[in-house]
Amino acid sequence: MIELKGLRKQFGDQVVFDAIDLQLSRGEIIVVVGPSGTGKSTLLRCINFLERPDAGQLTVGDLQVDVTRATQAQILALRRRTAFVFQNYALFANKTALENIAEGMIVVDRLSKREAHARARKILERIGLADKADAYPASLSGGQQQRVGIGRAMAANAEVILFDEPTSALDPQWVEEVLGLMKQLAAEHQTMIVVTHEMQFARDVADRVVFMDEGRIIEQAPPATLFSQPRDERTQRFLKKIL
Ligand code: ATP
Ligand code: MG
Repeated sequence: MIELKGLRKQFGDQVVFDAIDLQLSRGEIIVVVGPSGTGKSTLLRCINFLERPDAGQLTVGDLQVDVTRATQAQILALRRRTAFVFQNYALFANKTALENIAEGMIVVDRLSKREAHARARKILERIGLADKADAYPASLSGGQQQRVGIGRAMAANAEVILFDEPTSALDPQWVEEVLGLMKQLAAEHQTMIVVTHEMQFARDVADRVVFMDEGRIIEQAPPATLFSQPRDERTQRFLKKIL
Protein backbone atom coordinates (compact mmCIF):
# COMPACT_ATOMS: atom_id res chain seq x y z
CA MET A 1 0.00 0.00 0.00
CA ILE A 2 1.03 3.58 -0.63
CA GLU A 3 -0.21 6.32 1.64
CA LEU A 4 0.46 10.05 1.72
CA LYS A 5 -0.80 11.80 4.81
CA GLY A 6 -0.80 15.53 5.38
CA LEU A 7 1.94 16.05 2.83
CA ARG A 8 3.15 19.64 2.58
CA LYS A 9 5.69 21.30 0.32
CA GLN A 10 6.67 24.91 -0.03
CA PHE A 11 9.34 26.73 -1.99
CA GLY A 12 10.34 29.75 0.04
CA ASP A 13 7.08 31.48 0.91
CA GLN A 14 5.10 29.73 -1.77
CA VAL A 15 3.10 26.82 -0.43
CA VAL A 16 2.60 24.38 -3.30
CA PHE A 17 0.39 22.05 -1.27
CA ASP A 18 -0.27 21.77 2.33
CA ALA A 19 -2.33 18.75 3.26
CA ILE A 20 -2.31 16.11 0.57
CA ASP A 21 -3.87 12.79 1.56
CA LEU A 22 -3.79 9.99 -0.96
CA GLN A 23 -3.97 6.22 -0.76
CA LEU A 24 -3.32 3.51 -3.29
CA SER A 25 -3.60 -0.19 -2.86
CA ARG A 26 -1.15 -2.57 -4.43
CA GLY A 27 -1.70 -2.93 -8.16
CA GLU A 28 -3.77 0.22 -8.36
CA ILE A 29 -3.23 2.67 -11.19
CA ILE A 30 -4.07 6.29 -10.69
CA VAL A 31 -3.87 9.15 -13.14
CA VAL A 32 -3.37 12.66 -11.78
CA VAL A 33 -4.68 15.58 -13.81
CA GLY A 34 -4.99 19.30 -13.24
CA PRO A 35 -4.02 22.73 -14.50
CA SER A 36 -0.41 23.75 -14.99
CA GLY A 37 1.39 24.89 -11.86
CA THR A 38 -0.96 23.02 -9.59
CA GLY A 39 1.72 20.89 -7.97
CA LYS A 40 1.41 17.55 -9.79
CA SER A 41 5.13 17.19 -10.53
CA THR A 42 6.10 18.47 -7.10
CA LEU A 43 3.81 15.88 -5.54
CA LEU A 44 5.41 13.01 -7.47
CA ARG A 45 8.88 14.35 -6.71
CA CYS A 46 8.09 14.53 -3.01
CA ILE A 47 7.00 10.88 -2.95
CA ASN A 48 10.47 9.94 -4.13
CA PHE A 49 12.31 12.67 -2.17
CA LEU A 50 13.58 14.26 -5.36
CA GLU A 51 12.09 17.21 -3.48
CA ARG A 52 12.08 17.07 0.27
CA PRO A 53 8.54 17.47 1.61
CA ASP A 54 8.14 19.84 4.56
CA ALA A 55 5.61 17.86 6.55
CA GLY A 56 3.55 14.71 6.49
CA GLN A 57 3.92 10.98 6.40
CA LEU A 58 4.74 8.66 3.56
CA THR A 59 4.06 4.96 3.65
CA VAL A 60 5.32 2.78 0.83
CA GLY A 61 4.86 -0.93 1.40
CA ASP A 62 6.41 -1.80 4.74
CA LEU A 63 8.24 1.51 5.05
CA GLN A 64 6.75 4.40 6.97
CA VAL A 65 8.50 7.76 7.00
CA ASP A 66 7.76 10.90 8.96
CA VAL A 67 9.18 13.27 6.37
CA THR A 68 10.43 15.89 8.80
CA ARG A 69 12.50 13.29 10.60
CA ALA A 70 13.52 11.15 7.65
CA THR A 71 16.97 9.66 8.04
CA GLN A 72 19.30 9.17 5.09
CA ALA A 73 18.70 5.42 5.34
CA GLN A 74 14.94 5.94 5.17
CA ILE A 75 15.29 8.24 2.18
CA LEU A 76 17.35 5.62 0.36
CA ALA A 77 14.83 2.93 1.30
CA LEU A 78 12.01 5.13 0.01
CA ARG A 79 13.82 5.71 -3.28
CA ARG A 80 14.26 1.98 -3.77
CA ARG A 81 10.54 1.51 -3.42
CA THR A 82 9.57 4.32 -5.78
CA ALA A 83 10.88 4.47 -9.35
CA PHE A 84 10.54 7.60 -11.44
CA VAL A 85 9.94 8.03 -15.17
CA PHE A 86 10.78 11.52 -16.36
CA GLN A 87 9.24 13.56 -19.13
CA ASN A 88 12.65 14.02 -20.76
CA TYR A 89 13.78 10.38 -20.15
CA ALA A 90 16.90 11.49 -18.19
CA LEU A 91 19.03 8.66 -19.58
CA PHE A 92 22.81 8.58 -19.23
CA ALA A 93 23.99 9.78 -22.65
CA ASN A 94 27.31 7.96 -22.33
CA LYS A 95 25.72 4.60 -21.51
CA THR A 96 24.02 2.15 -23.83
CA ALA A 97 20.39 1.12 -23.47
CA LEU A 98 21.54 -2.03 -21.67
CA GLU A 99 23.84 -0.09 -19.34
CA ASN A 100 21.17 2.47 -18.57
CA ILE A 101 18.85 -0.28 -17.43
CA ALA A 102 21.57 -2.19 -15.57
CA GLU A 103 23.06 0.82 -13.76
CA GLY A 104 20.65 0.94 -10.82
CA MET A 105 20.90 -2.80 -10.28
CA ILE A 106 24.69 -2.46 -10.01
CA VAL A 107 24.85 0.73 -7.93
CA VAL A 108 21.75 0.40 -5.77
CA ASP A 109 21.09 -3.33 -5.62
CA ARG A 110 24.80 -4.22 -5.70
CA LEU A 111 24.33 -6.96 -8.27
CA SER A 112 27.39 -8.11 -10.17
CA LYS A 113 27.74 -6.53 -13.59
CA ARG A 114 27.15 -9.91 -15.16
CA GLU A 115 23.92 -10.54 -13.28
CA ALA A 116 22.68 -6.98 -13.81
CA HIS A 117 23.34 -7.21 -17.54
CA ALA A 118 21.54 -10.55 -17.75
CA ARG A 119 18.49 -9.05 -16.05
CA ALA A 120 18.69 -5.92 -18.18
CA ARG A 121 18.62 -8.10 -21.31
CA LYS A 122 15.38 -9.70 -20.13
CA ILE A 123 13.91 -6.27 -19.57
CA LEU A 124 15.01 -5.14 -23.03
CA GLU A 125 13.04 -8.08 -24.41
CA ARG A 126 9.97 -7.09 -22.42
CA ILE A 127 10.13 -3.53 -23.70
CA GLY A 128 10.70 -4.68 -27.27
CA LEU A 129 14.25 -3.36 -27.59
CA ALA A 130 16.33 -6.53 -27.47
CA ASP A 131 18.07 -5.46 -30.65
CA LYS A 132 19.04 -2.06 -29.21
CA ALA A 133 21.06 -3.28 -26.22
CA ASP A 134 24.24 -1.60 -27.42
CA ALA A 135 22.67 1.55 -28.80
CA TYR A 136 23.34 4.91 -27.13
CA PRO A 137 20.37 7.17 -26.36
CA ALA A 138 21.27 9.65 -29.11
CA SER A 139 20.77 6.95 -31.73
CA LEU A 140 17.32 5.97 -30.40
CA SER A 141 13.98 7.57 -31.22
CA GLY A 142 12.20 9.50 -28.48
CA GLY A 143 9.80 6.61 -28.05
CA GLN A 144 12.65 4.13 -27.73
CA GLN A 145 14.46 6.36 -25.23
CA GLN A 146 11.35 6.62 -23.09
CA ARG A 147 10.89 2.85 -23.25
CA VAL A 148 14.43 2.55 -21.91
CA GLY A 149 13.44 5.06 -19.20
CA ILE A 150 10.52 2.80 -18.31
CA GLY A 151 12.78 -0.26 -18.51
CA ARG A 152 15.07 1.35 -15.98
CA ALA A 153 12.10 1.90 -13.67
CA MET A 154 11.06 -1.74 -14.17
CA ALA A 155 14.56 -2.86 -13.22
CA ALA A 156 14.23 -1.13 -9.87
CA ASN A 157 11.48 -3.57 -8.96
CA ALA A 158 9.85 -0.75 -7.09
CA GLU A 159 6.64 -0.85 -5.12
CA VAL A 160 5.28 1.98 -7.29
CA ILE A 161 6.36 3.66 -10.53
CA LEU A 162 5.82 7.42 -10.72
CA PHE A 163 5.37 8.79 -14.25
CA ASP A 164 5.58 12.55 -14.80
CA GLU A 165 4.10 13.30 -18.21
CA PRO A 166 5.99 10.44 -19.84
CA THR A 167 4.72 11.14 -23.34
CA SER A 168 4.51 14.91 -23.48
CA ALA A 169 8.04 15.44 -24.83
CA LEU A 170 7.52 12.87 -27.59
CA ASP A 171 6.80 13.46 -31.24
CA PRO A 172 3.22 12.31 -31.79
CA GLN A 173 4.26 9.21 -33.71
CA TRP A 174 6.01 7.74 -30.65
CA VAL A 175 3.28 8.35 -28.10
CA GLU A 176 1.34 5.13 -28.69
CA GLU A 177 4.30 2.81 -28.28
CA VAL A 178 5.09 4.33 -24.89
CA LEU A 179 1.46 4.24 -23.76
CA GLY A 180 1.34 0.66 -25.02
CA LEU A 181 4.24 -0.30 -22.78
CA MET A 182 2.56 1.43 -19.84
CA LYS A 183 -0.62 -0.52 -20.58
CA GLN A 184 1.41 -3.70 -20.57
CA LEU A 185 2.72 -2.83 -17.09
CA ALA A 186 -0.81 -1.99 -15.97
CA ALA A 187 -1.98 -5.41 -17.16
CA GLU A 188 0.76 -6.92 -14.98
CA HIS A 189 -0.72 -4.99 -12.02
CA GLN A 190 2.25 -2.72 -11.52
CA THR A 191 1.20 0.00 -9.07
CA MET A 192 1.54 3.34 -10.85
CA ILE A 193 0.86 7.03 -10.36
CA VAL A 194 0.75 8.74 -13.73
CA VAL A 195 0.58 12.47 -14.39
CA THR A 196 -0.59 12.78 -17.97
CA HIS A 197 -2.84 14.67 -20.35
CA GLU A 198 -3.62 11.45 -22.24
CA MET A 199 -7.24 11.13 -21.28
CA GLN A 200 -7.84 8.06 -23.42
CA PHE A 201 -5.08 6.32 -21.49
CA ALA A 202 -6.78 7.39 -18.25
CA ARG A 203 -10.09 5.97 -19.48
CA ASP A 204 -8.50 2.71 -20.58
CA VAL A 205 -6.25 1.90 -17.64
CA ALA A 206 -6.77 4.11 -14.60
CA ASP A 207 -8.60 2.67 -11.64
CA ARG A 208 -9.00 6.20 -10.39
CA VAL A 209 -8.45 9.70 -11.71
CA VAL A 210 -7.36 12.35 -9.24
CA PHE A 211 -8.07 15.97 -10.10
CA MET A 212 -5.75 18.52 -8.47
CA ASP A 213 -6.09 22.27 -8.50
CA GLU A 214 -4.00 24.85 -6.67
CA GLY A 215 -2.29 22.28 -4.51
CA ARG A 216 -5.45 20.46 -3.46
CA ILE A 217 -7.03 17.21 -4.44
CA ILE A 218 -10.45 18.44 -5.48
CA GLU A 219 -12.00 15.11 -6.31
CA GLN A 220 -11.15 11.57 -7.30
CA ALA A 221 -13.19 8.86 -8.91
CA PRO A 222 -12.99 6.08 -11.50
CA PRO A 223 -12.48 7.64 -14.95
CA ALA A 224 -15.96 6.83 -16.23
CA THR A 225 -17.49 8.62 -13.25
CA LEU A 226 -15.12 11.57 -13.09
CA PHE A 227 -15.30 12.28 -16.82
CA SER A 228 -19.06 11.99 -17.13
CA GLN A 229 -20.18 13.38 -13.75
CA PRO A 230 -17.56 15.69 -12.30
CA ARG A 231 -18.98 17.08 -9.09
CA ASP A 232 -16.86 20.12 -8.49
CA GLU A 233 -17.18 23.17 -10.68
CA ARG A 234 -13.36 23.39 -11.01
CA THR A 235 -13.22 19.84 -12.31
CA GLN A 236 -16.00 20.58 -14.77
CA ARG A 237 -14.19 23.63 -16.08
CA PHE A 238 -10.90 21.76 -16.45
CA LEU A 239 -12.44 18.78 -18.20
CA LYS A 240 -14.35 20.98 -20.60
CA LYS A 241 -11.02 22.31 -21.81
CA ILE A 242 -9.28 19.01 -22.32
CA LEU A 243 -11.93 16.41 -23.22
P1 ATP B 1 2.65 21.41 -15.12
O1 ATP B 1 1.29 20.84 -15.52
O2 ATP B 1 2.92 22.68 -15.85
O3 ATP B 1 3.75 20.43 -15.21
P2 ATP B 1 2.56 21.00 -12.24
O4 ATP B 1 1.17 20.76 -11.77
O5 ATP B 1 3.44 19.83 -12.43
O6 ATP B 1 2.50 21.88 -13.58
P3 ATP B 1 4.63 21.91 -10.46
O7 ATP B 1 5.73 21.82 -11.44
O8 ATP B 1 4.55 20.88 -9.41
O9 ATP B 1 3.22 22.02 -11.20
O10 ATP B 1 4.74 23.35 -9.80
C1 ATP B 1 3.90 23.77 -8.73
C2 ATP B 1 4.37 25.13 -8.28
O11 ATP B 1 5.62 25.02 -7.63
C3 ATP B 1 4.54 26.14 -9.41
O12 ATP B 1 4.13 27.39 -8.95
C4 ATP B 1 6.04 26.12 -9.64
O13 ATP B 1 6.48 27.36 -10.12
C5 ATP B 1 6.58 25.86 -8.24
N1 ATP B 1 7.86 25.13 -8.27
C6 ATP B 1 8.06 23.89 -8.76
N2 ATP B 1 9.34 23.49 -8.60
C7 ATP B 1 9.97 24.52 -7.99
C8 ATP B 1 11.32 24.75 -7.54
N3 ATP B 1 12.26 23.81 -7.67
N4 ATP B 1 11.60 25.94 -6.96
C9 ATP B 1 10.64 26.88 -6.80
N5 ATP B 1 9.38 26.73 -7.19
C10 ATP B 1 9.02 25.58 -7.78
MG1 MG C 1 4.49 19.04 -14.03
